[in-house]
Amino acid sequence: CEFGYKAPENLLKDRIILVTGASDGIGRAAAKSYAAHGATVILVGRTIKKLEEVYDEIEEAGGAQPAIFPLNFETATYKDYGEMAELLQKEFGRIDGVLHNASILGSLTPVEAYNPQMWEQVMQVNFNSALLMTQSLLSLMYESEDASLIFTSSSVGRKGRAFWGAYGVSKFATEGLMETLADELENISGIRVNSLNPGATRTGMRQLAYPGENPATLRTPEEIMGTYLYLMGPDSKGVNGQKYDAQPPKVDAEA
Ligand code: NDP
Repeated sequence: CEFGYKAPENLLKDRIILVTGASDGIGRAAAKSYAAHGATVILVGRTIKKLEEVYDEIEEAGGAQPAIFPLNFETATYKDYGEMAELLQKEFGRIDGVLHNASILGSLTPVEAYNPQMWEQVMQVNFNSALLMTQSLLSLMYESEDASLIFTSSSVGRKGRAFWGAYGVSKFATEGLMETLADELENISGIRVNSLNPGATRTGMRQLAYPGENPATLRTPEEIMGTYLYLMGPDSKGVNGQKYDAQPPKVDAEA
């Protein structure tokens, strides 16, 4: 199964793969893991200094020279995504994979009291930005022989949970966009579209959501890369419109 998927070293050789939120947490681990498996990675995110660190780490590990594309998803417009696509067209001519990963938590608040401005901000960063970016990048993905589009979900984007507000709703919207695109692209392009729920993972966002939790009890981003590699590489060819989990469901200790 994909949880224990062991990727061949050259799984992503010569592939051009874009990762959003590549500066930290799971996106950072995914960018480095894709590069370690042969990909040329386009690092997209807002904090340039952190993106440069990831760039250096990839180069030091002997990976192909990455590209950095700074974008703040809170403020980026349709035009900005278009300009990014134009640059990538000139530089690479195609894109073989996109991992939509960047997100913010917003606040954990009952819907009734949720600040509307924050709601908008969360929808913008977590959902609208991925929509606009996908619109601008699809033509570059048509140029690929085997393109994979991965949207990052969450368990609260598959079953609603109290107080998760805009974050949960943004993930439901993401799942809806994934299914709609998968259905539209099935049979007319080689692009597969799937969603991936990382599950509880040791990152800054998780710590923010569960401040009382001991992070040492959680898997690290590096430990959950199997499904990220599986869905990005050729072994998932033909898999389309599916909702994946990067970790096995928790076994009930009492059971
Ligand atoms: P982190 O907070 O560690 O990383 C989030 C990434 O998104 C950072 O690179 C951050 O950039 C980037 N980002 C945030 N806001 C913006 C913005 N306005 N413009 C551009 N980039 C932005 O989160 P995780 O690694 O934990 O989460 C990754 C994904 O996994 C998310 O989609 C999250 O919803 C999902 N997820 C995570 C779980 C977990 O347990 N960790 C569980 C379920 C789902 P910067 O470095 O500048 O802050």
